[in-house]
Amino acid sequence: MLTGMHVAIIGGDARQLEVIRKLMELDAKLSLVGFDQLDHGFAGVTKMKIHEVDFHDVDAIVLPVHGTNMDGEIQTVFSNEKMTFTEELLRQTPAHCTVYSGITNDYLDRVVKSVGRKHVQLFERDDVAIYNSIPTAEGTVMMVIQHTDVTIHGSRIAVLGLGRVGMTVARTFAALGARVKVGARRSEHLARIAEMALEPFHLNDLEQHVKDIDVCINTIPHLIVTASVIAKMPAHTLIIDLASKPGGTDFRYAEKRGIQALLAPGLPGIVAPKTAGQIVANVLSQLLSADLKKRKENKK
Ligand code: NAP
Repeated sequence: MLTGMHVAIIGGDARQLEVIRKLMELDAKLSLVGFDQLDHGFAGVTKMKIHEVDFHDVDAIVLPVHGTNMDGEIQTVFSNEKMTFTEELLRQTPAHCTVYSGITNDYLDRVVKSVGRKHVQLFERDDVAIYNSIPTAEGTVMMVIQHTDVTIHGSRIAVLGLGRVGMTVARTFAALGARVKVGARRSEHLARIAEMALEPFHLNDLEQHVKDIDVCINTIPHLIVTASVIAKMPAHTLIIDLASKPGGTDFRYAEKRGIQALLAPGLPGIVAPKTAGQIVANVLSQLLSADLKKRKENKK
């Protein structure tokens, strides 16, 4: 239980509703900022403006999955209120206050570091990334269906990268009957791809391996699908780039060559906001419980 813990949830999208629901169940004291247009009747939680929150009493701040933008603004889909996460605001919090977000950026890093508060990026955790890879793979299936006129079954698909997303994506498309090859650079990854009964290839040989594909799914957050790689692809190839912005594809060259290339960020929040929210809520509640327990023990 989180009885006695004060959590400020500031902004976000539908995923935060699952966080609110979970933390309410666990009896946390919640201050919701940026939710004034939310119709949902969360009994017992207080909706407030950012300047109304007593940050001296806040044990944890939960920011949207994307944290802030580079000017510190906090996005919310449930309000028109303009909210900025500042050093001034964070300085009001007690020293033990922890800031939670999915990812971070230079602005957020700078603010949290200068005030000396702990910052947890939930999406850096292996468990969250692996759970999130499930809706990501389902969203990728949706995109491939939407942008091709043949079945996935029997299609030749190259997946680039065997990280948390790459492995789930490769497995999902193979289960649908696609002929999947996976490009990686580490020998243990090539061995794992072979163990999964998929076709492994070294990324050094990428140009050779895209000559006969229908779909290329990139998960590598570096420029890997270069102009010279795209030049070798059949004209009908669909490129889906899942890597975080700006992706790993030379989109300018793809467009010039007439190859359809799509950057597809944030699929879990698009195709399964409830599941994506539950993934965040479950891990967050475990971390808050552990934090509360530790503080109680330290007080003894
Ligand atoms: P990950 O577990 O770190 O996997 C990344 C993969 O890329 C690894 O196989 C890594 O191989 C490879 N890689 C990294 N740099 C490389 C380079 N310079 N050359 C060749 N290979 C390289 O990350 P993940 O969790 O799978 O996430 C992958 C990307 O998808 C991230 O950008 C993440 O933000 C994004 N993502 C997108 C969505 C969406 O909805 N579109 C959802 C979740 C995640 P090594 O082990 O050899 O380094």
